[in-house]
Amino acid sequence: MADRIFPKSAQNTVTRLPKRGHYDTDTIFGILDNHFLCHVSTVHDGQPYVIPTAYGRDGDTLYLHGSSKSRMLEWLADGRPLCLVVTLLDSLVLARSVFHSSMNYRSVVIYGHARRVEGDEKMHGLLRITEQIIAGRWAEARSPNDLELKATAVLAVTIDTASAKVRTGPPADDPEDYALPIWAGVLPVRQGYDEPVPDPAMTQSLPLPQSVVQQTNPDTHADRISL
Ligand SMILES: Cc1cc2nc3c(=O)[nH]c(=O)nc-3n(C[C@H](O)[C@H](O)[C@H](O)COP(=O)(O)OP(=O)(O)OC[C@H]3O[C@@H](n4cnc5c(N)ncnc54)[C@H](O)[C@@H]3O)c2cc1C
Repeated sequence: MADRIFPKSAQNTVTRLPKRGHYDTDTIFGILDNHFLCHVSTVHDGQPYVIPTAYGRDGDTLYLHGSSKSRMLEWLADGRPLCLVVTLLDSLVLARSVFHSSMNYRSVVIYGHARRVEGDEKMHGLLRITEQIIAGRWAEARSPNDLELKATAVLAVTIDTASAKVRTGPPADDPEDYALPIWAGVLPVRQGYDEPVPDPAMTQSLPLPQSVVQQTNPDTHADRISL
């Protein structure tokens, strides 16, 4: 889909360090597609709740899933406003001063509403979530059966508006601090997958599936997972 801009409003405009704010779908969807974990929040009876969970993106829709008895999914399914955050940590920024020490990051804040999905879209949502976590796994693993589908709720979140905030580069110290004998710089953060560990309960010796081979190949998904 072509790059689009989420219109700036009082809700999504980055006011603190506005030059770090982005509203285009290339940036926002690019960040979403680099991860599969988010924090979703809503308010129930005046109390804010935040829950970490997995997601899968398809265009302007984010799919969430969980137990049919999940309180959070039940509340969200009634269409109340939600906020969803995805954070990628790229490096620690070690300034000469504690005050200017920071982090390089890419983060997205989404505002939207959710609806419960059933039938084909429910299965599609589960596929999108599975594929977002580990591409190719949907075709390798057994599909959900009727009982499992009944035990699972799937929500489709429509993105009403969104913002991204991105920090890159070295520390930005006060001019007089640059002469201080204090090491300063950027400490890149790395997160990747290690050697796969076969389930000891496997009843036969099997080669690694393609999805796992791909994830453990540093060239394939070097930038796929961030903290
Ligand atoms: C890994 C990480 C660590 C951070 N650590 C700190 C910290 O320790 N202290 C600190 O003050 N800030 C930190 N930030 C930045 C923080 O997320 C806020 O941007 C900042 O605190 C400004 O808050 P505000 O309420 O004044 O935002 P405002 O600029 O007033 O927010 C207005 C709107 O801008 C958008 N927005 C704001 N922040 C973000 C964001 N990060 N990503 C996407 N959209 C955003 C939202 O739509 C928000 O409603 C960190 C961010 C990340 C990703």
